[in-house]
Amino acid sequence: MRITVDPDRCVGAGQCVLNAPAVFDQDDDGLVTLLTEPGPDQESTVRLAGALCPSRAITVHEG
Ligand code: SF4
Repeated sequence: MRITVDPDRCVGAGQCVLNAPAVFDQDDDGLVTLLTEPGPDQESTVRLAGALCPSRAITVHEG
């Protein structure tokens, strides 16, 4: 699994950081940044974060 984030779509809702704080962060403007690619034990929380993102700024690439 690999993920990409699109700060241009992000609305700063923070759901991703709440769900997977080891993977996502927010910059000074509240926009999403990627701290690290998820490890195998983080995949389910990252999928959840992607599903909950209200602006679809998180894309999960399976495989
Ligand atoms: S949940 Fe989506 S909109 Fe909210 S901070 Fe994360 S990427 Fe941005």
